[in-house]
Amino acid sequence: MKIALIAVSGVRVRNTLLDVHNVTLPGFVHRGKTIASLPSLGLLTIAGTTPSGHDLRYFDMPELDETALDAERFDLAAISALTAKVDVAYAIADALRRRGTKVVIGGLHAKMLPSEVARHADAVAVGEGEDLWPRIVDDAARGALKRFYAEDRPGTYDLARSPLPRFDLLDMARYNRITVQTSRGCPHDCEFCAASKLFGRYRRKPVELVLRDVDAIRARWPRPMLEFADDNTFADPAWGKALLRGLAGRGVRWFTETDSSVAKDPGLLDLLAPAGCRQLLIGFESPRASSLKGLDARNWKLRQLDGYLRTIEAVQSRGVSVNGTFIVGVDADTPDVFEDIERFVRESGLAEVQVTALTPFPGTRLHARLAAEGRLITRRYWDRCTLFDATFHPKNMTLEQLEHGMNWLFGKLYGDAAVAERKRRFLAMVRARRAG
Ligand code: SF4
Repeated sequence: MKIALIAVSGVRVRNTLLDVHNVTLPGFVHRGKTIASLPSLGLLTIAGTTPSGHDLRYFDMPELDETALDAERFDLAAISALTAKVDVAYAIADALRRRGTKVVIGGLHAKMLPSEVARHADAVAVGEGEDLWPRIVDDAARGALKRFYAEDRPGTYDLARSPLPRFDLLDMARYNRITVQTSRGCPHDCEFCAASKLFGRYRRKPVELVLRDVDAIRARWPRPMLEFADDNTFADPAWGKALLRGLAGRGVRWFTETDSSVAKDPGLLDLLAPAGCRQLLIGFESPRASSLKGLDARNWKLRQLDGYLRTIEAVQSRGVSVNGTFIVGVDADTPDVFEDIERFVRESGLAEVQVTALTPFPGTRLHARLAAEGRLITRRYWDRCTLFDATFHPKNMTLEQLEHGMNWLFGKLYGDAAVAERKRRFLAMVRARRAG
């Protein structure tokens, strides 16, 4: 069969006021333009499990492109999309099916809302794809596709069986970074988190398989910029240190997400920069105890608040910048939360910062609660799941106060002077440690 792998990339923010600020998120929009800056690791990974004898092609398709679809006929297409772009994915799927291509849709949105997805697909992959995709391809080749493919035991795929993602399908020159997965899931259970719902318990990939993937990329891009597609890379410090020792000396530069406990292990911190780590994204969520309370099931984040400043200093003084992320719109947030975040960022010396709107992705506990409380602005708001757009009525401020507050905060945080000052503070932390 001829098989198309289609990544519906790029997310367009609806809040147009944000366009005037220099607002970016990994893989998200910059000044209202859609940028396909990250390939879909999920599609490349299932490509690595495809039974032999089929011809695979990979496409980034940020919008429905009828001309591209007319250019080549495919027997089967696998589509992956974030919730914010799922309506575009549906339009592409409908167009492909009109042309006689069988369509499979998988990923996070498909796991959460398989019945909705099934209206636009011949088959829906519900859950992790590695074990589902070979069955789907075999059934499609026999003309016997089923409507739904689900894992026997969700969230338990053994990462020791991970295939080599088909990086060879990519035109590497199109991307400013390539994703590699080192772990799945997260030991915490934040009410708003969708990723941890897909992946379940925290699982590590054997270090030698991570290095196999990294080396496959290096064969095509000798000194690559990598992004680890993890939820919480260093939740297991012992394994994390083994990973860092393996990465050292390979000439890679990388970015990843982890939680603030990373700073509790000086041995691990010392290994970060020599392993090529350039930045850690850490979800601080809020500088206010009242806003952190109840965010995760065990109030783990609330208990870390006192150590936030020490975490930032410990990581950054070792030459690794921290991208601190904050969420606005939680129930305890009042209109003065924006000023509190601006002050914390300024005083902390954080090198980079991201502020996003609390977003009830379908399938999360947050979505269920807000739906039960009648606070969602509409029943179906998927194109607003950009992390920058309001999707529900906050408890202690109005929708207008939320949007106005975000825009005020972006103006403060992303102005040239604020960005330059953060860079200066970061370099000062590095120099202070070297001097001392
Ligand atoms: S710490 Fe991050 S990855 Fe883990 S559950 Fe919370 S939001 Fe999700």
